[in-house]
Amino acid sequence: MARIELENLTKVFPDGTRAVSGLDLEIDDEEFVVLVGPSGCGKTTALRMVAGLEEITDGHVRIGDRVVDDLPPKARDIAMVFQNYALYPHMSSYDNMAFGLKMRGEGKGVIRRRVDGAAGLLGLAGTLEKKPRTLSGGQRQRVAMGRSIVREPQAFLMDEPLSNLDAKLRVQMRAEISRLQRDLGVTTIYVTHDQVEAMTMGDRVAVMHDGVLQQVERPQVLYDRPANLFVAGFIGSPAMNMVEAELEQADGRLAVRIGDDRLAFGGEVAETHPDLARHVGRTVVIGIRPEDLEDAAVAGGGGDGRTISTTVDLREDMGSEVFLHFAVDAAPVRTREVLEAVGVEAIEAAEGESASRGTPFIARVDRTTRAQEGSRVDLVVDTRHLHFFDPETGAGIYREGKPAAA
Ligand code: ATP
Repeated sequence: MARIELENLTKVFPDGTRAVSGLDLEIDDEEFVVLVGPSGCGKTTALRMVAGLEEITDGHVRIGDRVVDDLPPKARDIAMVFQNYALYPHMSSYDNMAFGLKMRGEGKGVIRRRVDGAAGLLGLAGTLEKKPRTLSGGQRQRVAMGRSIVREPQAFLMDEPLSNLDAKLRVQMRAEISRLQRDLGVTTIYVTHDQVEAMTMGDRVAVMHDGVLQQVERPQVLYDRPANLFVAGFIGSPAMNMVEAELEQADGRLAVRIGDDRLAFGGEVAETHPDLARHVGRTVVIGIRPEDLEDAAVAGGGGDGRTISTTVDLREDMGSEVFLHFAVDAAPVRTREVLEAVGVEAIEAAEGESASRGTPFIARVDRTTRAQEGSRVDLVVDTRHLHFFDPETGAGIYREGKPAAA
C-alpha cells in the first residue's frame, strides 16, 4: 500500500491542447479519491500519467517513496481497471485472473491461493471455469477487478469501470467496489464523470474543470461548501438554483431581492458567512439548492423574508418527492463555468419550460404538495443553507472564514 502524490502535474499534447494544468493532489495510504468532472476536463489524462501510459509534460508523480515519472507502467506496481474490461475472450475467468501472475513467473500454489481468494471476495467462486462471453456484465466487471486484486498492487487506478453496466447493476457494483477497497485497504484513484458515483464512493472527491483542479474535499463538505460556481453547479442533482441579486442590509439583517420577493437572513448566515458583510451594496450570486425550498402549505407556513411566491410552470412527480419548476424574475448566472457545470442542454430545456420569463428554478418538495401547473405557490426558503458567490471571481464568499469585523 502506498501514498500517491501528484505535484504540479501537467500535460500539454503535441497539438498544443493543455489537458492537465499544475495538478497538486495527495492521496493518503488506503484512501479512495475520485477524480470527477465533465467530459474533456482532463481526468483520464491525469490518471494515465499516474499509470505511466502518458508522458508527463511537467511535474512529478510519487508512489510510495519513489518518484515514478520515468518508470514504465509495469514497474509502478499499480493495477488499472478500465471501462472496457479487456478480458481475454478465449480464457476462463480463472485464467484471466491468473494471467498476470503467470507472466510474472509466480508459482502455481501462489496463483491458486490468490485467485481463489479474490474469487471468494468477489463472489465468483462458481464461475471460474466460464469464458467471458458466458458471464453477465457484472461478473465480467468482477473478473476485471479480480485480475487487479490478485496482483496485490500498491494502488488501484480505475477509469469509469462501471460505465458499461446498466443503472441497477451500477448501483450494486458501486457499493461492492467501495466495500472491497475498504477491506483491502488499497490506495485508489477512481475517475468518473458521474457525480453520484463520485459522492457515494470517494473518501474525498477532486473536481476538475478545463484541466484545473477546482476543489478536493470530503463529499459532504463539497456539497455544503462548494468553493466556486463551477463546483456548486456540478455537484448536486437537480443543480443548485442560482441568480444574481444585490445584497442589502437593513435593520441589522442582510437581505437580497429576488423578483418581488425579499429574502432576509438572520445571524446564522452572518456567522457562517463572515465575509458577506463586505459585499453589502454589491451584486452577489445567491445559490439555493432545490431541497432547501418547500411548499409553505406543507411546511406549515412561510415567514417574513423567507418566502418566494411564484407560479408553477411544471410539476414532476418523482414518487418519493415532487419537483416544481418555476421562474424567478432575476438575472440568471450565465458564466461559462456554470453553463459547463450544469450542462447547456439542461439550461435550454428549463428556459423553454419557463417561457423565458426569468431564471428557471426547481424546488424539490414533499410529495404531499397540492401545487399544480399554473397555480400559485408560496415556497419557504431554508435560509440556513443559502450559498453566496462573488460574480466576478466565481468564488464562494463564505469560504474565506475571516472575522466579520475584518
Ligand atoms: P472523458 O470523460 O470524455 O474521457 P476526460 O475528462 O477524461 O474526458 P481527457 O480524455 O483527459 O478528458 O482529455 C482532456 C483533453 O485533452 C480533451 O480536450 C481532449 O480532447 C484532449 N486530448 C486527449 N488526448 C489527446 C491527444 N492524444 N492529443 C490531443 N489532445 C488530446
